[in-house]
Amino acid sequence: MKLTKYIFVTGGVASSLGKGIISASLAKLLQARGYSVTIQKLDPYINVDPGTLNPYEHGECFVTDDGAETDLDLGHYERFLNKPTSQANNVTTGRIYQNVINKERRGDYLGKTVQIIPHITDEIKHRIRSLGKKYDYDFVITEIGGTVGDIESLPYIEAVRQLKWELEDRSLVIHLTLVPFLAASGELKTKPTQHSVKLLLENGVQPDILVLRTERSITDGVRKKVARFCNVNIKSVIESIDVSTIYEVPIRMQSEKLDEIVLEKLNLPTKGMPELTKWKEFLEKLKNPKSEISIALVGKYVELPDAYKSIAESFLHAGAVNECKVNLKYIHSESINETNSKEILGKYQGILVAPGFGHRGIKGKIEATKYARQNNIPFLGICLGMQCAVIEFARNVLNLEKADSTEMHNNTKYPVISLMEEQKNITDMGGTMRLGKYPCKIIPKSNAGKAYNQTDIFERHRHRYEFNNKYLDLFQKNGMIATGINPDSELVEIIEIKKHKWFVGVQFHPEYKSTVLNPHPIFTAFVKAVNEK
Ligand code: GLN
Repeated sequence: MKLTKYIFVTGGVASSLGKGIISASLAKLLQARGYSVTIQKLDPYINVDPGTLNPYEHGECFVTDDGAETDLDLGHYERFLNKPTSQANNVTTGRIYQNVINKERRGDYLGKTVQIIPHITDEIKHRIRSLGKKYDYDFVITEIGGTVGDIESLPYIEAVRQLKWELEDRSLVIHLTLVPFLAASGELKTKPTQHSVKLLLENGVQPDILVLRTERSITDGVRKKVARFCNVNIKSVIESIDVSTIYEVPIRMQSEKLDEIVLEKLNLPTKGMPELTKWKEFLEKLKNPKSEISIALVGKYVELPDAYKSIAESFLHAGAVNECKVNLKYIHSESINETNSKEILGKYQGILVAPGFGHRGIKGKIEATKYARQNNIPFLGICLGMQCAVIEFARNVLNLEKADSTEMHNNTKYPVISLMEEQKNITDMGGTMRLGKYPCKIIPKSNAGKAYNQTDIFERHRHRYEFNNKYLDLFQKNGMIATGINPDSELVEIIEIKKHKWFVGVQFHPEYKSTVLNPHPIFTAFVKAVNEK
């Protein structure tokens, strides 16, 4: 049994400074020194998980192997560490309260008044410590969502304060702030950082390390000033300057010695260097592509690129393996119709139709699919995108007039996509889809078979509707074949069009499993097919 070390990452001044990327970068450096590390995100909102949230709220909902619907930061953790996360890696205030209230109803508190302190804070502390204990990690890095000073973050900061005392020299706090540059006076300003640290101090937490997010390089004078006014050693003031790709951040953090300072403060050896050869090879390829392609991502949340975070990252990984720069252009599905599809999509060499829910934008998605099919343009449909490909083929090749998914049209004459049997009696929306990892058997000579180069795979899911097997024969006789099937339930997981350059629809979400060191085979093959021209 190891004595796990706990590192807390808090944020101040503004949101969106990149706590997730800093946490993942530090984790990467520690992992590259041979330590076992995991990262956890605590989210201060009341939803039990982000599964019921509109992507416009917090971006994409990430799904883990064990079927947890989580914050998109978990995607970064997996992409950086190349290790799967689980439900235990993302906890929200809603889940904490739900647990405490369930315990109260069971009578577990033996007549006590249940309060934020100690019951809620104890539950938070339990969620943090149990992750380290359960898997015997060397390090658990816990990212506290939100910004210091938010009312809803207070119980988390209090839990961190208590843990700092309980864990003694086995914990430390990293605080990420912003140092803005004022063009008018030509200066970097440290005051917001000072105020933010003051807020933390008011809550009883002294940060051990400060990471300063900045557009311009931080001078020694600024470092000294921050160190002096925020009670930290000058070596513990770390610069995090804007970079062209998030995958550069671990390298920057290493040159700022963030890993060494963390190890030193936790009384661990600092000798040696993190082993980052493969990571650096990836960066080299990412930065020096030999070719360039443009792919259209047709979706309905295009105003907010975070809604398709994992897909965009998967293209970076797949682009690097193919030494090809992928320009991913987001196209609003509502802007595409029968008459303008060539005009809008004609400039792209590949088309991806994105996952999604509900009616809005579905027509444009189906049009985009038709355009890709008729013009032999490499196509990847993910989840709803795959379902659109099935609907389009049914309508325009099989002549099943107005064929549809029962999600869009409950009484359609030809329900080629329909609600899964086990979904029929479900009324609650939260956590009730077909979620997480399921097996799939692949036909070896298909595009998917060639991409995976294996026949038995596992992929992650998040859907309620499925390909209706009643129509399978008809589809297969006419050229759309099922090349991936769930061996237990016979659900169709992959469809392809035989007479097409590369046309693949997947009911699962390959984007959740792509990492820097393991780019996803489906994305890699798609980019390759587009790049081959
Ligand atoms: N709305 C579809 C379903 O529930 C597709 C879901 C998705 O794209 N993630 O089956």
